[in-house]
Amino acid sequence: MSAAEENAAILEVADMRVWYGTRGDPVRAVDGVSFSIGAGETLGLVGESGCGKSTLGRGTLGLLPPMASVSGSVRYDGRELVGMDPKELRDMRGPELGLIFQEPMTRLDPLQTIEKHFRETLRTHEPDLDDDEVRRRSLEALAGMGIPPTRFKQYPHEFSGGMRQRIMIALALVLNPKVLIADEPTTALDVIVEAQILGILADLRRNFDTAVLLITHNLGIVAEACDRVAVMYAGEIVEQGDAREVFAEPAHPYTRELLRATISLETTGLNYIDGAPPSLIDPPPACRFHPRCPNAMAVCAELAPEETTGGGGQRVRCWLNGPEERIPEGGREPLEREEIAAAEEA
Ligand code: SF4
Repeated sequence: MSAAEENAAILEVADMRVWYGTRGDPVRAVDGVSFSIGAGETLGLVGESGCGKSTLGRGTLGLLPPMASVSGSVRYDGRELVGMDPKELRDMRGPELGLIFQEPMTRLDPLQTIEKHFRETLRTHEPDLDDDEVRRRSLEALAGMGIPPTRFKQYPHEFSGGMRQRIMIALALVLNPKVLIADEPTTALDVIVEAQILGILADLRRNFDTAVLLITHNLGIVAEACDRVAVMYAGEIVEQGDAREVFAEPAHPYTRELLRATISLETTGLNYIDGAPPSLIDPPPACRFHPRCPNAMAVCAELAPEETTGGGGQRVRCWLNGPEERIPEGGREPLEREEIAAAEEA
């Protein structure tokens, strides 16, 4: 357990489920997920596209469309957010719970100057602020992102993609949220801007004790910026723990495959994970990774793995890690690929 996790968690998510209604069976985008983040801690949430990580981030802040059904518990600073009065939750977003979106251009109003964006953001939550204070705090937040005051009265289209993303971050931070959810904040940015943004997130943690949930598909970013990591596959968290321990000694085959597929200076050739992520309407039974898992055993297609503790202290859902007494006789036999196909069709 990390030092930050030992502190009281500021955000605790327990057995959260987000299902989307369709004409047929529901899409189980998030299916029984639990994690917590302490003040001043950064948790990286990783997984392939479509595994449910963005839904989890938005669901945590109550930002999902009405067709989404959310259950479980999301406790922020002791208050339950699931089922909270929408107005009360809206008032908490910004000053207490911040969100950085992936696409800054879709979030900034092209017809409003940057000054107007800041004025509206601040006055919505602090209506008594006078103009001088609005300007001082806005420019301070922008300066923290390397945006000079001379750009304050410009429009979004006058900035580069990287600058717009930094403006979005400044808008999220001007209210000093206690929890920040950053959904792929550096996707599509060049590596220099990416490094700047990761540096800003690290400063936040250090200077303001902000708890950060960093959603990304990039394990390199997690290794650089996060204290802990949670690995998500097909709507479930399959492994979570101290980032250094998990990367040094991954206990779940999916984490190992993700790491193997990460391009580094030592990489020779292109490694990829066999198969495609499953449908979230009808995911494979038992362990959802078993049709793609190089280590799949007979038990994996029959029983859902339980959460156990791995060698690096991480929490892992994989029968390779036991518990031994729950594995039926013959359960450790390798799973034949024909059995996998039969299980998929069942
Ligand atoms: Fe692979 Fe079985 Fe572990 Fe699932 S439970 S990840 S199929 S070994």
